[in-house]
Amino acid sequence: MKVIVTGGAHGIGLATARLFHQRGAQVWVFDIEQPPCSDLLFTKVDVTQRSPLEHAFGQVGVPDVVVINAGCVTFAPLVDTSTDQWNRTVELNLTGAFHTLQLAARSMIPARHGAIVITASTNSYDGEADLTAYNATKAGLLGLLHTAANELGPYGIRVNAVCPGLIRTRLTEPHFSNPHLLKEYFRHIPLGRGGLPEEVARAIAFLASEEASYITGAALLVDGGQMAAKFSVWSEERAEFQNDHWVLRPKQ
Ligand code: NAD
Repeated sequence: MKVIVTGGAHGIGLATARLFHQRGAQVWVFDIEQPPCSDLLFTKVDVTQRSPLEHAFGQVGVPDVVVINAGCVTFAPLVDTSTDQWNRTVELNLTGAFHTLQLAARSMIPARHGAIVITASTNSYDGEADLTAYNATKAGLLGLLHTAANELGPYGIRVNAVCPGLIRTRLTEPHFSNPHLLKEYFRHIPLGRGGLPEEVARAIAFLASEEASYITGAALLVDGGQMAAKFSVWSEERAEFQNDHWVLRPKQ
């Protein structure tokens, strides 16, 4: 099995690439940085650059699975978001995803087989402040997802997305290095904690696998229940926050 993971040098992409490799796949990482793992095939490529990306796809042949994961975040209030911040975020998170999706589809259509998984976000749905450009791109990915699932289904190509909540990677380092912020953030998460890249990787591998053979056009939340909870779930009345995790106190 041939798998391409964009943004596979770090975080969720790296965990995904490692998992597919452990399960016996030949895995190509398309990234601007080198992954810290020599078992993975690495092509240095910026997914916003169409022709180098096309060349990288040409080297692989027909992939069975493409994981569209490269992404970045810019923090700024709406009124202060610069055109440059907006453009950089859209270029990578949305235009880069479009290029990757289109090239994946073009190579899979003649084979009449394939699975594509997009890394969207809980921010595809909610309006977390100071993330105007990020939220808009992650919402836009759902438009790509639904259209591609609709058009590619007849060719036996499934297209799905994962929507991670707060996952511990370098992208979220500003959150994870702030214990007070984590405590308040995780109050709203039924499972009481953030996620690990490996937990998202397993959801991506599921959606790409035959276990998900009748699933296409779906966006799977991988968020510890965050999107299910409207109000705070955890309080000091019955729980404590220890090691970045809310836990119930033992029964008295
Ligand atoms: P990360 O920064 O650890 O990884 C991002 C990867 O993308 C890196 O390897 C980086 O080198 C690569 N990359 C950046 N620009 C690139 C380009 N132009 N071309 C190719 N590769 C490029 O971040 P992460 O948290 O693992 O994020 C991965 C994806 O998951 C992103 O799309 C992000 O929006 C999404 N996501 C993350 C979280 C989270 O909490 N970490 C939550 C929801 C969604």
